[in-house]
Amino acid sequence: MAKRSLTILIPCYNEEESTGPLFSRLASLVEDNKEKIDYQLLFVDDGSSDNTRVLIKDFACTHDYAKYIFLSRNFGKEKAMFAGIQHVTTDALVIIDADLQDPPELIPQMVELWKQGYDDVYAKRRSRSGETWLKKFTSRTYYNLLQKLTDVPIQKDTGDFRLLDRKCIEALQRLDESERNSKALFSWIGFKKIEFLYDRDERVAGKTKWNYGKLFGLALDGITTYTIAPLRVATFFGGFVSIVSVFYAIYIFVHTLITGIDVPGYASTLFTILFLGGIQLLSLGIIGEYLGRIFLQTKGRPNYFVQEDNLGSEFHEDDSM
Ligand code: UDP
Ligand code: MG
Repeated sequence: MAKRSLTILIPCYNEEESTGPLFSRLASLVEDNKEKIDYQLLFVDDGSSDNTRVLIKDFACTHDYAKYIFLSRNFGKEKAMFAGIQHVTTDALVIIDADLQDPPELIPQMVELWKQGYDDVYAKRRSRSGETWLKKFTSRTYYNLLQKLTDVPIQKDTGDFRLLDRKCIEALQRLDESERNSKALFSWIGFKKIEFLYDRDERVAGKTKWNYGKLFGLALDGITTYTIAPLRVATFFGGFVSIVSVFYAIYIFVHTLITGIDVPGYASTLFTILFLGGIQLLSLGIIGEYLGRIFLQTKGRPNYFVQEDNLGSEFHEDDSM
């Protein structure tokens, strides 16, 4: 059987401090296993403003299996990964973080599972060392909620660290939606999945680019890409409040007939107005979330632009996909 080929895709954004250990660990992985697998490295630089690009270029000069794509500005990890996925030509792909939180040494074990016939070998965190209690709690609650809202099975405690077979890569290349949430897309495409337990390390150097604001945005994106259930929540609340208000109207009518006109009622009036106002705003907000995404999608803009790469001329036609 012919030797299989595999691309390791590494999105990088201001990772100059991580590149030292990153390059040396990747290089030893590739060189130690070159009899078994034909490895390629694909660095996607997501508009770094530090020295990351220079360091990647230097590395690529001396290592012919290292390829790079530099995006025209910072587009976010989602788009950076998509840029990489669009340019993969090998039989499989593994996505890892540049900060070495996903140990590259585990890739040969993932390859074994791939050889057994699995299409999507996703790494699942056995522990979440280095994360705060609050982050663990919020992420658990979020996944439970998301699973209740959708029929697509969701893989908990997984990130983007996974091995994808050519079948999955081709499926993902066809999903060029602008509001991307990779985790949702990985679940949505299906195929033969298997989990693989690992311990996620702490960052080797530098700082995380995430904060709670960005995570909240990502969580909302997750929900809105998976499901339209929140729109139904608005309908449900509307229906519920209407039914209750009919009964309340009957009660007031009968009450007035029996006891005459009842002027006091300030508290109940105010409560009703505030309650309904709140629900209306919430519903508008939910509609707005979906409408905004429709707006962004209908503009049909390319997901990213490439500033520079060393992939060779055959790729340049669809640079701006
Ligand atoms: N990253 C990126 N673009 C961004 C932010 C992050 O390509 O706008 C990359 C980053 O260089 C790293 C990976 O995405 O390789 C994960 O980022 P980070 O470590 O900040 O996230 P965390 O591990 O804390 O979830
Ligand atoms: Mg990280």
